[in-house]
Amino acid sequence: MNQHLRPEPVPFIDIAAQRRRLGPAIDEAVTRVLTHCQFINGPEVTALEAALAEYSGAKYVVTCASGTDALLMVLMAKGVGRGDAVFCPSFTFCATGEAVALTGAVPVFVDVDEATFNMDVDSLKRGIATARKRGLAPKAVMPVDLFGQSADHDAIAAVAEAEGLFVLDDAAQAFGASYKGRRLGTLGLATATSFFPAKPLGCYGDGGAIFTDDAALAETLRSIRVHGQGSDKYDNVRLGLTGRLDTMQAAILLEKLKIFDDEIAARNLVAERYARGLGNVVSVPRLASGCTSIWAQYTIRLPAGCDRDGFAAALKAQGVPTAIYYPKSMHQQTAYRDFPVADGGLPACERLSDDVISLPMHAYLDEPTQERIIRAVRGALGA
Ligand SMILES: *Cc1c(COP(=O)(O)O)cnc(C)c1O
Repeated sequence: MNQHLRPEPVPFIDIAAQRRRLGPAIDEAVTRVLTHCQFINGPEVTALEAALAEYSGAKYVVTCASGTDALLMVLMAKGVGRGDAVFCPSFTFCATGEAVALTGAVPVFVDVDEATFNMDVDSLKRGIATARKRGLAPKAVMPVDLFGQSADHDAIAAVAEAEGLFVLDDAAQAFGASYKGRRLGTLGLATATSFFPAKPLGCYGDGGAIFTDDAALAETLRSIRVHGQGSDKYDNVRLGLTGRLDTMQAAILLEKLKIFDDEIAARNLVAERYARGLGNVVSVPRLASGCTSIWAQYTIRLPAGCDRDGFAAALKAQGVPTAIYYPKSMHQQTAYRDFPVADGGLPACERLSDDVISLPMHAYLDEPTQERIIRAVRGALGA
């Protein structure tokens, strides 16, 4: 094919467009940190924690080094470990179950609802019974707000309360979304999020945060973040991590937070245009009642019998990148296949892993470019 006729590739996530919009504000924020030289625990870290508390409505925010550390630190603070069971959806990024396994506890994988991609509460109940039959002590449930949409938090809270479990919300993809009018960060005992660059609120490296209304938990998390430090700096009172967020990343996030709501609105417009352009040829994501999404990913399901690799190749030839989140659910992966799954199996997770594919999604996707993507999808399906 003639090089010059090949369509110019569309970015999957356009981090550079956001960088252009933020312009000198980012350079100035970084320069301020380079000037004061408090690279660890600088004033921007405290300012970011206050800004995130205000944004989410959570009483306490503890920033940390990554979304994975955010999950792990809460489990460590609650003393989760050997003999305990923690319930996670299997259709998620591996960090959800990984944090559980790192404590020595057993992740018990449960199924998801095919319409929302989020935890199926009936499967959660079956998973709790499965854990008890195996002699494990059920301790916590970790709903994931997948692809940016909040999980069904009331239904999960009801089961957690009845069973004496605490809820750790994995909102790594969904900080900024809400459930029945409440922002994520205020549901359950604690909420974890990630500032990995490709997440909707991303920094320029790794970062994360924990949200909670529990003062004692927040204090323990602040200790775990610095090797389990006590009030005497040289008498460590528990095991911890090097779990801090860099001052530089905090300074960058403070600037990005200023435009975050505007970006969420733009992402919602992009999602609406996809739903209009594609709703009659593929299964497009739906919002459950009471749930909003910040559209971390726009994930469609291909019609039965459609060859996903061929579809992705056809789009690529048109300059349209795709990604598969997730081609294997956690219980299908080498490191996790020996952990228990809820009785009844996880058929929805397995079907989704077979037929999902994600399209370019970001706040700077303009209408003509999106039209190109929609035409490429329809063309690849012969629609
Ligand atoms: C990204 C992600 C994480 C982990 O975040 P990191 O900052 O990359 O450690 C955890 N859970 C989910 C669902 C994620 O998407």
